[in-house]
Amino acid sequence: MDEKTKKGKRTSPTCLYCPKIDDAEHSLFSCPRWSREKQELELYLGGEVNVGNLVEYMLSKAEAWERIQMYMRNIMKKKRGVWKKRVNVNVDLPMKNRNGSGRPRRKGDGF
Ligand SMILES: [Zn+2]
Repeated sequence: MDEKTKKGKRTSPTCLYCPKIDDAEHSLFSCPRWSREKQELELYLGGEVNVGNLVEYMLSKAEAWERIQMYMRNIMKKKRGVWKKRVNVNVDLPMKNRNGSGRPRRKGDGF
């Protein structure tokens, strides 16, 4: 299972939704894909959120902490869902090598 996860992991750090490099900071603060979610969060917090003030907001009150956590979790969950779908598309159903390494066969693998 671990091996499968490793193999199925993306190698390119490019964002799924825009041509920028994808990291946590990009997803949470600058990716256009999540601008709506970010807007809602900012509406609640009453100001613009960025790397510099996020922690400040989180510490301001318990509700803000929860809200920001929800925001992050929401994005991570959605992103993971997309990756899962992508990986599954390239995996053939394991017919007889059920007791093999569990490594997903990819098209063009030339087995
Ligand atoms: Zn992006």
